[in-house]
This record gives sequence, structure tokens and C-alpha cells, in this order.
Amino acid sequence: MLAVLSGGTGTPKLLQGLARLVGQEELTVIVNTADDLEQSGIYVAPDLDVVTYTLAGLIDEEKWYGIRGDTYACHEMLARLGHRELLRMGDCDRAVSLWRTFMLRRGMRLSGATSEICRSLGVRARVLPMTDDRVETIVLTEAGEMSFQEFWVARRARVRVYGVRFKGIGRAAPAPGVVEAIEGSEAVIIGPSNPVTSIGPILRVREIGRSLAKLRRRVLAISPIIGKAPVSGPAGVLMRGIGYEVSPPGVARIYRRYAGALLVDTGDEGLVLEIERMGIRAFTAPLLMPNLRSKVRLARHVLGFFRKSSEKPRAS
Ligand code: GDP
Ligand code: CA
Repeated sequence: MLAVLSGGTGTPKLLQGLARLVGQEELTVIVNTADDLEQSGIYVAPDLDVVTYTLAGLIDEEKWYGIRGDTYACHEMLARLGHRELLRMGDCDRAVSLWRTFMLRRGMRLSGATSEICRSLGVRARVLPMTDDRVETIVLTEAGEMSFQEFWVARRARVRVYGVRFKGIGRAAPAPGVVEAIEGSEAVIIGPSNPVTSIGPILRVREIGRSLAKLRRRVLAISPIIGKAPVSGPAGVLMRGIGYEVSPPGVARIYRRYAGALLVDTGDEGLVLEIERMGIRAFTAPLLMPNLRSKVRLARHVLGFFRKSSEKPRAS
């Protein structure tokens, strides 16, 4: 069994590779919910949905959100009525959020609603929200405090960041099964997701952070930063904003309490020593995943890492 910590872009790519090599049944994905939001009266869970759609084979890989081939009739009609939505949401994608909202209003928890959606869409991996409690990312910027979506979607991350906080995180309990999945897995993967706003909130759910720190030796993190920049998204601005260098060693500094090893890109080989001096082992592999072949190749490296580290030293 493998537990994977995920946001909504980098790690889902790796999940596609992993799902090719091991059965989905072997995977538990623990997903960030701190950028969940209400839009037009419904509960939208961007990262949970990307993970679910990816494993269901429905994800729109051009955008890394929403459902492939979706239509936008509802979004456009709402605009015509004078209601502009922050997120451009497809009709089928909206149906999923509507159904989730309906289940939540009937008293189901987010984890229950998620497992129901996964079951209906044929997902065989276990997809768990990090928590059933409401947590909200607040980005502190030169233009004031704003939600993650406002920072990223409305302002395109073009604003200076001074800090990030997660409203509600102190009281958030792990969703049922999360800690058990981490402690019962042979290996835990911190996927190549945004270390500040995707993995950050998951690690800050106190009991999750604590169990990872305890099992640190079997936790492998994969760098979302290659060279001096993220592959996509606002991780660079956010890391810099909270005082970290935008580099694989910067990622190592964020993860060193939780992960025993960090996988960095082959091109960043020269940084291995600097990372190891922080007390975290570093390995290299090609980390860019533009196509299925590269996803499978990286997944093979990741599985190989755990296989090697579980081999007992042979008696001579
Ligand atoms: P979000 O929820 O959409 O913000 O997505 P994530 O947090 O899951 O993923 C965003 C991160 O994925 C960014 O920091 C990217 O650098 C990283 N990422 C995207 N594609 C790749 C890739 O092919 N390889 C690696 N190593 N990282 C990637
Ligand atoms: Ca996200």
C-alpha cells in the first residue's frame, strides 16, 4: 500500500504513472482541501476533483482541472444573467459539485461525499480529503488578505506575497482513515505539488504532520521545483513570500521534518550535497512529466526507491 499526499496538478500527473504500475487499489490519496470554496451556492473542491477525475480517466489534461470535453452552458447563462463566476466551471464538473453539495446538506461529511462520487465514477483508489473540517487558505499580500482563488485566478499571482495562513487549521482533524492510511502504508509519497498551498495545509493538520514526522524514514518527497522555478503555478511567488529559496534545497527545508528523502531533477544533481547537509537524503531522476511515458518513468523511480530501501542488508 502507498499513501500519496496531493494537490491538483503535479501529483495527479504522477498518480497517472503510479496507476499504470500498481493497481489503483494499492493507492490512498490524501488531498488538500484548503483551496475549497463556495461558488454560486455550491461547494467546490478543486484538488479533490482533479484527483478524482484523473483516476476516473476524465481529467482535462490541457488545463489540469475540469472534465475533458465539458460544455459551459451554465457558466455562460449565469454570465448573461449578470452573475460572473470566479472559476470557469463546466457543466458536468458543476454537476459533480452540485451532487456533493446536496450530500453535504443532507449531513454527509466531505469524506463520505467524496467516496460516493469516486464510487460512481469508477475510481478504485481511495481518495480522502485531508480533513472534513473547513480550512481556508488566506494569502497575505501587498494588496491585503485574499483567498487562494482570488490570489491565483483573479490576480494571476501578480502581487507581492508576505505570508500565507490557513484559517481553521488548528482545529482541523484528519478525515477518517487518513492517519490509518499513512501508518498502515509501506511508503508515503509527498507528491510534486505546491509545497506552500497544496502540501503545506496537509502537513499542518496536526495529527497528519505528527504521523509523518514519526514515520519520516519511509516518506519520500518529490520536488515540484526544477532548477530555480516551479514547472507551473504560483509555488515560486509563494515560497519566496514565506521566506524560502525557490530551489530544491528550499523544498528540502520545508519538508525535512516530514520526509527522509527528496527526489530532485537529474539536472539538479549538483544540489544533492547541499540538501543532504540538511539531514534529508537526496536522489535524482528526470522529474518533468509532459507525457504518459515520463509519468510512468518517474513512478518507476519512486517505486524503485522504496523497493531498494526495504531490502534488508544481506548477511555476508
Ligand atoms: P494545484 O493544486 O493546481 O496548485 O497543483 P499542485 O499543487 O498539485 O501542483 C502544482 C505544482 O506541481 C507546481 O509547483 C509545479 O511545479 C508542479 N508540477 C507540475 N507539473 C510537474 C511536473 O511535470 N514535474 C514536477 N516535478 N512538478 C510538476
Ligand atoms: Ca489546488
